[in-house]
Amino acid sequence: MKLVVVGGVTGGASTAARVRRLDAKAEIVMFERGEHVSFSNCALPYYLGGVVESSDHLLVVTPEDFKRRHDIEVRTRCEVIAINRKSKTVTVKDLTDGRKYEEPYDKLMLAPGASPILPKTIAGIESKNVFTVRNVTDIIALKNYAEKSGVENVVVVGGGFIGVEVAENLCKAGKNVSLIEGTEQIMTPFDYDMVQILHKEMDDHGVKLYLSSTVTAVNAESGSVTAVKEGQIFKVPADLVVMAIGVMPETKLAEEAGLEIGETHGIKVNHNYQTSDPDIYAVGDAVEIFNKMLHTYGRLALAGPAQRQARAAADHMYGIPHNNTGYIGSSCVRVFHQNAAATGLSEKAAAKAGYHFDSVLLFPSDKPGSMPDSHYMGFKLVFEVPTGRILGAQAIGVGAADKRIDVIAAMITMNGTLEDLKELELCYSPVFGTAKDIVNMAALVALNILYGRFTQVHVNQVRPLVESGAYIIDVREADEYNKGHIKGAHNIPLSELREHLDEIPQDIPVYLHCRSSQRSYYALSALAGRGFHNIVNISGSFLGLSLYEYFNDKMTGREPIVTAYNFD
Ligand code: FAD
Repeated sequence: MKLVVVGGVTGGASTAARVRRLDAKAEIVMFERGEHVSFSNCALPYYLGGVVESSDHLLVVTPEDFKRRHDIEVRTRCEVIAINRKSKTVTVKDLTDGRKYEEPYDKLMLAPGASPILPKTIAGIESKNVFTVRNVTDIIALKNYAEKSGVENVVVVGGGFIGVEVAENLCKAGKNVSLIEGTEQIMTPFDYDMVQILHKEMDDHGVKLYLSSTVTAVNAESGSVTAVKEGQIFKVPADLVVMAIGVMPETKLAEEAGLEIGETHGIKVNHNYQTSDPDIYAVGDAVEIFNKMLHTYGRLALAGPAQRQARAAADHMYGIPHNNTGYIGSSCVRVFHQNAAATGLSEKAAAKAGYHFDSVLLFPSDKPGSMPDSHYMGFKLVFEVPTGRILGAQAIGVGAADKRIDVIAAMITMNGTLEDLKELELCYSPVFGTAKDIVNMAALVALNILYGRFTQVHVNQVRPLVESGAYIIDVREADEYNKGHIKGAHNIPLSELREHLDEIPQDIPVYLHCRSSQRSYYALSALAGRGFHNIVNISGSFLGLSLYEYFNDKMTGREPIVTAYNFD
């Protein structure tokens, strides 16, 4: 058995290592076009901000380690430029001296990844001050340039994971950072209501956000970029530009070899990651995979899936079965002090896919209030109606958002429902969480909605309600109300509710909220028990509403619907 691997990072290195564990005698040759193999792509942005102190720390395994520890031959600076399927060889170009040669294979693994998109339509895109972030060489070049004297203003184009992480790290490195994003929000795995927390966080830390804006030119000489928003052209100062608007799978080799390419432009593979040629496998960012929630094929540029695919493909080469259950898409990111994670379908994605669904938005404490590091966490749970099947979740907070989302990812993978989540027995100590964890609480709230125990409106529906003079009751205490409240809202604290029942109208809908929806839920139950049938909870309550409205109000200069925001 001779395995040839194209691409020496996540998918390629994982395949090579797995094959070695399965077969002590296999000959394994791994080609990598770049200078390094098996580096930590995901840690690259943190080198800019000094979290990763040395670029050496980005290198996980060196070619020498591969040889000594695993008897895997690594050839860096060697690009595979053709696959000759009939002769079962690849043509390799040694980039150090230009020499070309053929290398035979029994099995071939394609793990060439995806390259950053650099649209030719942007004038000046090839300027020396424009960078992308894909590998260690890129990040060293970018950091060196950023550290040159006179480089103060940075524009990051694209608000996905890489753009956001690069923006944060350059900000920490003391740069004046602007982030320009073509759509109305950064971080598409999050719904618009949730992502406002991240918009605010970036804004609070001095990253200037330009949303719904498209960069049309890089003007290296004048140190700016030109962008356009709703037909209005504007310039943003930019001594340095980082392009992070997405990646395109590297399919050229596969295409030229006549391998099938899927509809989403990834290499087409079967459930064992074989391409249309059974001796050629492909994994990672270059392929398209089955999305178990959408029942369609799509691309998912994440490290965990690439590693799992690599192991499954290697196993298949040795007749070890693998049950490919598809992907749900779980990801996390830290934005300054906020940890953000998402799994499965957002509301947006569920709607696009035609699901019947609903969602709940909560802001519970992640630890008991007695603990000094207790913080609220924004948590959104998306579920199918009427089955209660869990479709997705998003969590953002200072605390362990990833832990909550990992739990939900496990539930989704096991086709869990709200009832399962309600019953899920999780560990507890005040050091880590609350006895009824946020995820259990979300299930309880969602079940109340699913079973029709109460109705709700979402934070994005509140502005029209306020503007049309709807009857809103704020059940927080007077001191909380006085610090900031919805304009026109009536303050009847929960503790005094029973004395004020006759003030509450029965003939029109009455909207309730508190700080985080806990007290408004008690109020709602108390009112329902006394025959009030037209009471609606404001999902997310005042905290959710403040976070939802704040950034938009600031950006647009529109009239706030609250007297003051409150984020405590
Ligand atoms: P890669 O790891 O990109 O490896 C492909 C390699 O193939 C490249 O080094 C390329 O040079 C080489 N190659 C291509 N063509 C040839 C050829 N013809 N001959 C020889 N060599 C070739 N994912 C997460 O899950 N979490 C994160 O936090 C995260 N952060 C990221 C941050 C950054 C800055 C980047 C760039 C990526 C991040 N990712 C993250 C994504 C993750 O790194 C990728 O999904 C994963 O590495 C894909 O693995 P791959 O093997 O398909 O491609």
